[in-house]
Amino acid sequence: MHVRAIAILGATGSIGTTTLSVVRAHPSRLRIAGLAARSRWRELVGPAKEFGVGVVALADPAAAAEARASGAFPAGTRILEGLAGLTEVACLPEVSVVVSAVVGTAGLAPTLAALKARKDVALASKELLVLAGKFVTEAARVSGARLLPVDSEHNAIHQLLRAKPKGDIARLVLTASGGAFRDTPLADLRHVTPDQALRHPNWSMGPKVTIDSATMANKGLEVIEAGWLFDVPADRIDVVIHPQSIIHSLVTLADGSLQALLSPPSMAYPIQDCLLFPERLPCPAPRLDLAQALTLGMTPPDPARYPCLGLARAAAATGGTAPAVFNAANEVAVEAFMAGKLPFTGIAELVGRTLSAVTAREPAALDEILAADAESRLIASGLAPGLGL
Ligand code: NDP
Ligand code: MG
Repeated sequence: MHVRAIAILGATGSIGTTTLSVVRAHPSRLRIAGLAARSRWRELVGPAKEFGVGVVALADPAAAAEARASGAFPAGTRILEGLAGLTEVACLPEVSVVVSAVVGTAGLAPTLAALKARKDVALASKELLVLAGKFVTEAARVSGARLLPVDSEHNAIHQLLRAKPKGDIARLVLTASGGAFRDTPLADLRHVTPDQALRHPNWSMGPKVTIDSATMANKGLEVIEAGWLFDVPADRIDVVIHPQSIIHSLVTLADGSLQALLSPPSMAYPIQDCLLFPERLPCPAPRLDLAQALTLGMTPPDPARYPCLGLARAAAATGGTAPAVFNAANEVAVEAFMAGKLPFTGIAELVGRTLSAVTAREPAALDEILAADAESRLIASGLAPGLGL
């Protein structure tokens, strides 16, 4: 039996550790060849031992030096550092699937390198498609590597679209939980705290994506992500609030009927789909208990509650570097909110002002996108204090 070797970028995070639990459940199908993170090397010692991992990379060189000096890793484990180290892990000859789960855009270069080396990429880092969708999808197309979506909505759509002719698909429908403040009175949103925003009703995720769920910037990023993954324009991608997070997304077919994919809200399901595709084996996560009453609700999102969604749609319609501007401004805004320097409602305000301040261009090369990203961060950082608490 062929055992797939996996490399995980972002191995210490929420997606990274769930990936480890999926690999643990299927030792006859999956193994870990390489692990990478930013600095939390202590969290990698256990997995390195458990899975007999040959190569570990830490983006932060000081952390890599500490990890080497500690003697905590098995004698045979190589410890690499920096972006070059992450790229080496992603391109290890034996690796067939790279799980790209670094938060933000720091995983761009290693992910592009993996695609160019014809590694399949299980993509959790939606920010990479928002920033550089043109170049990421092109790298996959040129080499023939597969881009497999980990994001639960996109994974659901990927499953629903398999073996369907493109002409059968009329629209895509992304479901959204509505995040931590779905039912908070609008007038109170200005005063909600990071702690409250981090209490997601259904999903346990890293802090950035949890805040993005509360603003629905996450769903905005996902509309743009879906556009690149499925080659569908944003105006044919709908969003509905589905508070139970059991329907992971839907497709509307040409005849008007809809198909949905249901599973419990655990990222183990989409991660396993990416790693074992096309094989189906029992997933190491709870099942839906249909002996219990199950209510599935759907309501349209209120634009006044979730202005980031409209801003993302505007950026998608502008195209070019505008989605990169949206993403960069949102990252700056979330950081400022987490640091207590921006009110919750300031996130959308800062993103909107940055989008107005930076002129979008059609990028001919990746460098132009990276320049737009850097410019937007600078402008957003300059505007943030003016919107402060
Ligand atoms: P976490 O915050 O839990 O983990 C982030 C990971 O990225 C950590 O392993 C961290 O390493 C690593 N990292 C951060 N910066 C760098 C860097 N500069 N270089 C290398 N590694 C770095 O995030 P999540 O797992 O929640 O999210 C990861 C991605 O998956 C995000 O893009 C998110 O949008 C997406 N996603 C997540 C979902 C979820 O359920 N969590 C659902 C759908 C998508 P260290 O620990 O050393 O800092
Ligand atoms: Mg999602």
